[in-house]
Amino acid sequence: MRRGRFAPTPSGKMHLGNARTALIAWLHMRAAGGEFVLRMEDIDTERARAKWAELALLDLRWLGLDWDEGPDVGGPYAPYTQSERLERYEDALHKLEAAGALYPCYCSRADILGAASAPHGLGSEGPAYAGTCRHLSPAERADKARSKDPSLRFALPEGRDVTFVDGIAGPQVFPAGSGGDFVVRRADGLHSYQLSVVVDDADMRITDVLRGYDLLDSTPRQIWLDEALGLPVPEFLHVPLLNGSDGKRLAKRHGGIAISSFRERGTPPERLVGWLAHVSGLIDRPEAISAAELIGHFDLSRIPREAVVVDVPDI
Ligand code: GLU
Repeated sequence: MRRGRFAPTPSGKMHLGNARTALIAWLHMRAAGGEFVLRMEDIDTERARAKWAELALLDLRWLGLDWDEGPDVGGPYAPYTQSERLERYEDALHKLEAAGALYPCYCSRADILGAASAPHGLGSEGPAYAGTCRHLSPAERADKARSKDPSLRFALPEGRDVTFVDGIAGPQVFPAGSGGDFVVRRADGLHSYQLSVVVDDADMRITDVLRGYDLLDSTPRQIWLDEALGLPVPEFLHVPLLNGSDGKRLAKRHGGIAISSFRERGTPPERLVGWLAHVSGLIDRPEAISAAELIGHFDLSRIPREAVVVDVPDI
């Protein structure tokens, strides 16, 4: 059975960009006769709020999407809310630790930024971690531990490139060491996105990870973690983003992009779904159509391979 998911971070109102990814992930599963899971990624307590999680469910249902398993409907792999799954992440950390794949890191952000000749990290995250704490002696570790709680980093396997074929973006190669050793648990105890997503996708038997293109760079890390934990590697599909007319990724500053603002002013959901489907290459004109009717039109090969520039629809 194919299983897909949508995994929003409830750090603000759901907007056109997230809703489009949700719609495509939902259509991809429904067209394949698979199961669709909704997972709430709320472990970052500084950013996540219950009110945004509730609004996300409301917005998705208003758009006509449904899910077989999720925070509000339960399911065999519950809980579907990350803040209730912390033990699962700790278990995974113990396994990684036992396999010798983790080490404590005492570096501050300033240390990392200042490290000489640091190559670029992945995506927009700044320089790659140079591995400073990987080779500390036990005595040096004990000394540093006296004054600072460490984060935990995953030690990238030496000399192994990651290659995979993305279901939308095509063949990908990330050379060994890409991005450097990454944090799996912060010094304040927060588990990283990379760790939680890998544990959850495996626990929830996800076969198809369809998400925004901004997460393509996270995929090698997730594959490295899957391998280290002995977990199956899912299929990855990264959808190119929607950009505003300034060429930048659609965001709050473009104004009027919250799904709830369309709902509140009485836009029929079919009009918004039609617009989302049109900018995703699924229908020729932005006519009103329900999410369910779109299942028959779904064709992954019609999704544009590059970011699409859009104006916020006046509907
Ligand atoms: N929670 C992530 C986000 O909202 C998505 C994670 C994923 O799909 O892997 O950007």
